[in-house]
Amino acid sequence: MVKKIGLFWLKDDFRLKRNIALSEATNNHDQVVAFYLYKQKDLDSKQAQKWWIGRSLEEFRERLTELNINLEIIKTETYKVFFEKLFNGNNFSIYWNRTYEPNYLKFDEYLSKNFKKNNIHFKISKGNILNEHQDVKKKDGTPFKVFTPFWKTAENFYVEKIPTKQRKILKCKNKITYFKKTLNETEIYPQKKWYQKFEKYWSPSEKVALSELKSFINKRVESYADARNFPSILGTSKLSPYIKHGQIHVETIWEECSKIKKKGINKFLSEIGWREFNHSLINYFQYMLKGNYSKKFDKFPWEKNSKYLLAWQKGLTGYPIVDAGMRELNSTGWMHNRVRMIVGSFLVKHLLINWVEGERYFKNCLLDYNEANNVSGWQWVAGCGADAAPYFRIFNPILQGEKFDKNGEYVKKWVPELKDVPNKFVHKPWEIDKENILKLGRDYPFPIVVHEKARVKALEAFKKI
Ligand SMILES: Cc1cc2nc3c(=O)[nH]c(=O)nc-3n(C[C@H](O)[C@H](O)[C@H](O)COP(=O)(O)OP(=O)(O)OC[C@H]3O[C@@H](n4cnc5c(N)ncnc54)[C@H](O)[C@@H]3O)c2cc1C
Repeated sequence: MVKKIGLFWLKDDFRLKRNIALSEATNNHDQVVAFYLYKQKDLDSKQAQKWWIGRSLEEFRERLTELNINLEIIKTETYKVFFEKLFNGNNFSIYWNRTYEPNYLKFDEYLSKNFKKNNIHFKISKGNILNEHQDVKKKDGTPFKVFTPFWKTAENFYVEKIPTKQRKILKCKNKITYFKKTLNETEIYPQKKWYQKFEKYWSPSEKVALSELKSFINKRVESYADARNFPSILGTSKLSPYIKHGQIHVETIWEECSKIKKKGINKFLSEIGWREFNHSLINYFQYMLKGNYSKKFDKFPWEKNSKYLLAWQKGLTGYPIVDAGMRELNSTGWMHNRVRMIVGSFLVKHLLINWVEGERYFKNCLLDYNEANNVSGWQWVAGCGADAAPYFRIFNPILQGEKFDKNGEYVKKWVPELKDVPNKFVHKPWEIDKENILKLGRDYPFPIVVHEKARVKALEAFKKI
């Protein structure tokens, strides 16, 4: 046991199960302090996440208190400003888990260099991922650019390497404070109405994440492969915000799923695999975080149309499945994957608006926003990503609606203006000729573009590149 204080830098790791850095700190020190760095500017472009983080801090503080660990929140302009002051310290060792985004990994190198230089003991541990991005590569040592072969190789790797060994988290001797000028989590998420809406749908905690996983495996995983496409039913795990903020480690998901043999398990794990693949992509091809993975898209004739963009954001495009998706996002901070693809395709291909605008809006509104999945998801939709949807695949919002929301239940839930519309018309309300049921332009918008015309225009634009 080392006499010094153990500092645990809490980022996206609001959990006790499989939190290697926290376990290292408590095994090596009698006294541990956890700290969270609040960069306001960064969170200002991720409004929904402020709520999740605020609630997670509140909940995790209580759990750490039971371990005699104080959680301190520190506001800082940049991580560098904060850490520069720490380099002169001599009474602590510091521990954190890796975050698999290029900026973070680069910053880890900077910290390692400076802690070493100043003889400060530090340890960086495996974060919330199955494979470190450099672990799964082609035989010739180059990165995979296509998902299927990536996943085949990755699965074999996991069988041997997972779960990663971890020591139990220990209770500390006594609770101490370390930093001056700390914040309360309420300063991160002011009690605005906008945030309160999430309370109805989510409860950010490790306990809830683990019980949601259990319930998904027990009750829903067998039908997952089909049910995952239908937004009106609870067919997926809805674990994404918990995974993003680390209330559950993906190794726990892998381990629990590997214990049982049920239909649907492989499909479910392969979706977790897409998350792995995306993290690998953004670290090998870092330029895709700033623009198109496929460079030929740099010449794409995107259009700027703030009226269309606003209509899309508000769920007022006149295409019911698109509007339902955007309103689900605006109300709950989450959107069904099938509908993410439909609304994404609509923005990029029907409205010809750059995917970057969609990515930015999702980033602000999604509770599960993560850089790897969001950027890759948007580039997949636009056709400019690695292993992306082909450019000529333009989702028809009417047919998608009729196929995946046949009776319009999803649409009617999120677009109540259409609740009395007969199912036959629910995905094409402009065909109703009875104004007592629905008057377009008064009760619900006219479609902002005509599907067939928009499709032809998009194909012409795509041909140019
Ligand atoms: C345009 C667009 C943007 C997206 N942005 C994000 C984002 O910011 N954050 C995010 O986590 N996911 C994103 N996704 C992927 C996917 O839509 C969500 O992960 C999924 O809807 C989450 O719901 P779930 O937890 O019920 O998923 P489940 O179907 O239960 O899947 C389990 C887990 O696997 C992972 N996963 C599932 N589908 C995908 C996928 N297509 N790509 C990568 N990982 C996946 C997630 O971690 C998910 O929680 C995006 C997809 C698109 C098309």
